[in-house]
Amino acid sequence: MRVYLDYNATTPVAPAVLEAMLPFLGDDFGNAGSVHTPGQRARAAVDSARESVAALIGAKPSEIVFTSGGTEADNLALFGSLAASAKPRKHVITTAIEHHAILHSCEELERQGIDVTIVPVSQSDASRGAVDPEDIRRALRPETILISVMHANNELGVIQPVEEIGRIAAEAGVRFHCDAVQSAGKVSLDVDRLGVDLLSISAHKFCGPKGVGALYVRSGTPLAPRFFGGHAERDRRPGTENVPGIVGIGKAAELARNLLGEDSQRIGDLRDRLESALLESVPNARVNGDRAHRVPNTTNMSFPGAGGEALLISLDLQGIACSTGAACSSGSTEPSHVLLAAGLTRDDARSSLRFSLGRPTTPVEIDYAISVIPSVVARIRALSPREPHAAAVR
Ligand code: PLP
Repeated sequence: MRVYLDYNATTPVAPAVLEAMLPFLGDDFGNAGSVHTPGQRARAAVDSARESVAALIGAKPSEIVFTSGGTEADNLALFGSLAASAKPRKHVITTAIEHHAILHSCEELERQGIDVTIVPVSQSDASRGAVDPEDIRRALRPETILISVMHANNELGVIQPVEEIGRIAAEAGVRFHCDAVQSAGKVSLDVDRLGVDLLSISAHKFCGPKGVGALYVRSGTPLAPRFFGGHAERDRRPGTENVPGIVGIGKAAELARNLLGEDSQRIGDLRDRLESALLESVPNARVNGDRAHRVPNTTNMSFPGAGGEALLISLDLQGIACSTGAACSSGSTEPSHVLLAAGLTRDDARSSLRFSLGRPTTPVEIDYAISVIPSVVARIRALSPREPHAAAVR
C-alpha cells in the first residue's frame, strides 16, 4: 500500500483541473496577447481564471498578478515593494519561521543595503511557533517599508495572527505582505479581513499544477516590476501568459472554494485521528506547534531517540511518504530553522516528522499509517546508538 502524507510539499492535480487545462495544451493553443480568435479564446480563459483566483481570497480580478509560483510571488512582493520606495533608508520586518522564498530574499535585500529585522516566534507550549503581533509593532521604525509574515507555516501548520498584524501595519502606514501559500485551499482567506496589501499563493499546494501561482496586489499598492518585457499582467509581470497553468490555478481555486468546508472538516478529523493514535501508541511522542491555531491538514511530531531521516526512509520502504521539513531542505543535515525557532532542541528537531493530509486522503490510509508508524519508530529507536527514550515506558 502506498500512502502519501506529504501534501504540504505538493498535491496531485485534481482530475477536473487536468480536464480544464488539456484543451489549452492542445487545440486552444492561442497566445492570450493575440487579437485573433484563438488569442481571444486564450484571453477569455485567463480572465475567467483571474476571477476565480480573486474570488478565493476576496480580491478584485484586477488585483491578481499571475506568477510562476509561490517563490516568484514572494520575491515580487519583497523586491517589488522595496524597489518602489524612494526612501533613502529602507527596513523590512519578517519572522524566523518564514519559508526560504522569504528568508533568502531578505538575505539578498540585506546584501543590497536594506535593513531586515527577523522577529522570533513563541517557544512556550501553548503558542509554540506563533509570532506575537506586539513584537512586530516593537520592530517598526520610521524607515520600515514592508512587513512580511506568513499565514500558515509549512512545517508546523501554525496559523499566524495575520489580522492583528494587518491592523498594526495599517496604523503605522506600512505595507503588509502575507505568504499564504500553505493556507489557500485549506482555510478561508479574505484579503480585507486580513488587512494585507500583498498575498502569495501557489497552485500546486491546492490540487493545481506546479509552476503557477499568484500575487494579490491591493489596488494602489506601489510595486515595481522585477521582470521587463511586454505588457502582460498590467506591466507588473511581463511574459507570454502560461495559459494552461493559469487555467489550472483558476479551476483549482474554484474547487478549493466550493469544497473548503467539507475538505477541512474531513481532513481535520483524519489528522486528529492520526495524531491521537500516535501520541497514544508511541512512547514520548510529542506534537510540535500551537495545536489550537493550525491548518487542519498538518501535524508535526517529534519521536525523541529516532532520527527523522532514518524514520523517513523506513516509512518510505513501508509505503508511507512524509517529510522531515520543507521539501526543499531535504538532504540537508541541518535541523529545520522553523523547529529551532519554535524552541525545539537540535535533537528533537532532528527526530521530527511532518505528516500533511490532502483531499485524496482516506480513512483506510490513515489506519494503515497508524498501524505502521509505531513499529517503525520502535525499530529505529532500538537501532539508535544514543537512545535515551528507546527503553522508556509510557
Ligand atoms: N511559501 C511557502 C510557505 C511554501 O510552503 C512554499 C512551498 O513549499 C513556497 C512559498 C514556494 O512556493 P512554490 O513551490 O510555488 O515556489
